[in-house]
Amino acid sequence: MAGTAGGKGNLWSATAGPAVETAPLSEDLTVDLLVVGGGFTGLSAALHAAQSGARVCVLEAEEVGHGGSGRNVGLVNAGLWLPPGEVAKIMGERAGARLNAILAGGPDLVFDLIERHDIACEAVRNGTLHCAHAPAGLSDLERRHAQLTAIGAPVTLLSAEEARARTGSPAVHGALFDPRAGTVQPKAYARGLARAAQAAGAIIVQGLPAGRRQSTGDRWVVEAGGHRITSRALIEATNAYGQTPGRFTPMHFFQMATAPLPEELLKDVLPGLEGCWDTALVMSSFRRDAAGRVIVGAIGALDHLASGVHQAWAQRKLARLFPQLAGQPLEHAWHGRIASTADHLPRIERFGVRGYAAYGYSGRGIGTGTLFGKALAQAALSAEEAALPLVPVPAYAEKMTAARALYYETGAVTMHGLELAGVKG
Ligand SMILES: Cc1cc2nc3c(=O)[nH]c(=O)nc-3n(C[C@H](O)[C@H](O)[C@H](O)COP(=O)(O)OP(=O)(O)OC[C@H]3O[C@@H](n4cnc5c(N)ncnc54)[C@H](O)[C@@H]3O)c2cc1C
Repeated sequence: MAGTAGGKGNLWSATAGPAVETAPLSEDLTVDLLVVGGGFTGLSAALHAAQSGARVCVLEAEEVGHGGSGRNVGLVNAGLWLPPGEVAKIMGERAGARLNAILAGGPDLVFDLIERHDIACEAVRNGTLHCAHAPAGLSDLERRHAQLTAIGAPVTLLSAEEARARTGSPAVHGALFDPRAGTVQPKAYARGLARAAQAAGAIIVQGLPAGRRQSTGDRWVVEAGGHRITSRALIEATNAYGQTPGRFTPMHFFQMATAPLPEELLKDVLPGLEGCWDTALVMSSFRRDAAGRVIVGAIGALDHLASGVHQAWAQRKLARLFPQLAGQPLEHAWHGRIASTADHLPRIERFGVRGYAAYGYSGRGIGTGTLFGKALAQAALSAEEAALPLVPVPAYAEKMTAARALYYETGAVTMHGLELAGVKG
């Protein structure tokens, strides 16, 4: 496919460097913690558990970072997509304030791990810009600014003029700047977490899906590749790439990236290297990578008959954001699945003895997954839940998730089509 639009596939897979080296599972294992899923949640759990002296095994069905962790925009945010006041409204004042406070520390944990384990992942901690896509988007930013400053977040509201100077884009109408946040090459970050976990003693097996799990009372037994793994504790970290139906609505988000661009074209494009997303109903994102590619993204999937609309929209979006880049070929194109819950809040599920699952980060999983993985490891190994960011639920299911998934995708195609036709945006 190389040579066609987006034919180079996932940019992050192409630039993450060598894959993590792992050996096949060749015997039965007995461990303290078995983690299913090698994304940020599972790898952070494995790293922190192994560092505390536990024997740990991670089973990853494909390769480390195969799921959302190797496909996302790379914005390391200090909270959820919902602003903190709304989190508190849904969860209750005390539980919401606690979750908001914990998630505010997400970027600190991520960038600290990157530094501590010397993870080469294009880490830039220059903040993020939530941009008003139209004058109407400003009221959303003002609401978020009020809620964030009320909990002490050091965010700044930028006028249209300031936001245009900061982004280099004439298409933004104001922005909310969060200096706590930053960007990473997400797949390289996932691989770095995996190598750090291995260095701490964790066994990671790739290309091996976890099969049936059974509880024997105080032990979990999981079958994989003809072997049995017996463990005191189990963390299921499969999130949007897991098979349990009804936990969340699968929502897709695609991205497309230019080739590395010369400095004369890039000098006015995000000169501060902030990562950006916007206030549009069908949310979009834009950022640069370390090699000087410009990456635009939006809600939508690239695997159906109408996905050409998304591709055409991305080309137009690039030109609208940065007119000097009009017509630049988009070489890389890929999408990923987001686990979106109806209230946009994550869930921690408890099953059996020392069994946990975490999912539903609703598009905010770099800080959240890293924090949740650490807390889950602690809870699963100690059977002490005080440090969990959320009260675990016994099981969780939502109705109409397939219908909602269809609604998101057809909505995204329709809105992008209307923009292309000049009816909107
Ligand atoms: C396109 C996109 C853009 C996003 N942008 C951002 C962003 O900018 N900032 C942000 O904070 N968040 C973002 N997110 C969300 C974030 O990427 C996810 O929340 C996060 O990666 C979830 O990590 P995880 O470890 O929980 O799950 P995942 O990374 O999805 O990992 C789950 C893993 O489980 C494996 N698996 C599944 N079943 C089995 C099995 N039976 N046995 C073994 N392994 C199994 C899968 O192969 C997969 O590797 C985005 C997500 C997407 C898809």
